[in-house]
Amino acid sequence: MRNYLVAGNWKMHGSTAANAELLDGVIAGMPQSAAVSLLVCPPFPYLGTVADKLSGTGIALGAQNVSQHESGAYTGETAPSMLKDVGCEYVIVGHSERRHGMGESSEMVAAKFRAAQEAGLIPILCIGETQAEREANATEAVVDEQLNAVLDDSGIEAFRMAVIAYEPVWAIGTGLTATPEQAQDVHRHIRDLLASKDGDVADGVKILYGGSVKGDNAAGLFGKPDIDGGLIGGASLKSADFLAIAEAAASLD
Ligand code: PEP
Repeated sequence: MRNYLVAGNWKMHGSTAANAELLDGVIAGMPQSAAVSLLVCPPFPYLGTVADKLSGTGIALGAQNVSQHESGAYTGETAPSMLKDVGCEYVIVGHSERRHGMGESSEMVAAKFRAAQEAGLIPILCIGETQAEREANATEAVVDEQLNAVLDDSGIEAFRMAVIAYEPVWAIGTGLTATPEQAQDVHRHIRDLLASKDGDVADGVKILYGGSVKGDNAAGLFGKPDIDGGLIGGASLKSADFLAIAEAAASLD
């Protein structure tokens, strides 16, 4: 049976009260299906309280970013071991809002990926092209460069305990979604690149799609053979919207 991962990236949204209301709704309505796993990634200040709330629910906790350093004079940064300490299982690395908005290079993302794994976290490696890159037919070159930076640094075996999220930048928060066929093509390309190094690792790795996934387009995307779930931004902020996506995954079981 396939296991879909539906992951909510709350970005810089929420408050103690709003998070509690959101999670109450998600916990009450989550599909009771072994075919779907849920994960939420709140902002840093809420990780501890969200961890308490999720205890015993089966919903996993992740962070949205991590330092590549383990400790030291890095004001404002958060070490991988600290995320682990407060209950995170996952951490997003290389989200386009950090690559493009905060100047994170592929090398820095690769270092974060490695540091996260060394601390026992499962990195969710985000890769994807901008609109201009797609129009220049550079989609595959861009995802290859972003993926190869991590492969060069951590090796193919590292992908036994990692998740990839293909997120075309032009589809994030814009309401534009890649068609299931466009997404599948890139997911297949990513899996083929991994398979050229190790077929077993390539078969096992989850490749999520991210970019304006909603309840009404999730089943079409997740129904494709190389799409193993979604990284969800805007639609993870309301329980009904997030649950509609989780239900779409469960319906494909
Ligand atoms: C994201 O933040 O990773 C994302 C995919 O956002 P949205 O679903 O809002 O496009």
